[in-house]
Amino acid sequence: MPTAATRLCGIVLHPAGHTRSPAMHNAAFAALEIDASYLAFDVPPEDLADAIAGVRALGLEQIAVSIPHKEAVMDLVDDVDEHARRIGAVNTVTRRDGRLVGSNTDWLGSNRALERETEIAGKRAVVLGAGGAARAVVFGLLERGAEVHVLNRTVERAERLAKELGASGAAEISALADLDHDILVNTTSVGLREDVSPVPAEMLRPGSVVMDAVYDPEVTRLLRDAANRGARPLGGKWMLVYQAAAQFETWTGREAPIEVLANAFDEAGR
Ligand code: NAP
Repeated sequence: MPTAATRLCGIVLHPAGHTRSPAMHNAAFAALEIDASYLAFDVPPEDLADAIAGVRALGLEQIAVSIPHKEAVMDLVDDVDEHARRIGAVNTVTRRDGRLVGSNTDWLGSNRALERETEIAGKRAVVLGAGGAARAVVFGLLERGAEVHVLNRTVERAERLAKELGASGAAEISALADLDHDILVNTTSVGLREDVSPVPAEMLRPGSVVMDAVYDPEVTRLLRDAANRGARPLGGKWMLVYQAAAQFETWTGREAPIEVLANAFDEAGR
């Protein structure tokens, strides 16, 4: 039971829907016997400034920031760390010495998830999409020394992203057919609660690692196609789990219990 000493964390997003973050973080707190509680707050854009003022006044320890607030929150915190500034989005606000510090753990989540299957340095990677998730994934791949191409339905957005972050090239999605690659990451929302893939199965390369940022459903059409083509599928669940782990570690300073987070994700989806 919460007491006067219980510390509070949470997630702000809109609409709140069925976020699994409270289940994951509360399970991790319980496993490590940390006296903290994690809640979801449905905050529409017009209330975000008041919500962050509330975080400040009530002394919340950490707030995860999700759609649609990842950019707007950058103007509301005291500091934004260098990685988040370069990505252009904050998904984590942590209290440090009384100041609210914005950071981004999506890129760490993407890298750590990929590293379950492959090294990243020196690999040829293709990222589908040019939205917020793409920026974090491309940034992470470049940080680890991959060569990255960005493909997007709206080519101009891919070109802008590639230029800003220093990726090797940008093109439309059909260019995947001609791009040799070791790693493919889907960051488009294609496949989210629908049984469609962002690319034809024939374009998937045997032996490559195929990660889908989409985690609902857990096994998307892209991941099924990847398995059928002899590629190595990796679900968006792992990117979510590892970005949550990085948030947990940022605040607690302790190693996150990955299996606990992953099991809580599974249970929350049942
Ligand atoms: P976003 O900023 O809205 O970007 C959406 C992207 O999807 C854009 O590149 C858009 O292309 C593309 N797209 C949308 N509909 C399309 C269609 N019918 N055909 C082709 N491309 C289409 O969204 P986001 O924040 O980057 O999130 C994208 C996905 O990643 C979501 O499913 C989200 O849940 C997931 N995600 C997962 C994690 C994780 O931890 N696993 C973290 C963050 C996000 P245009 O530029 O042409 O519009």
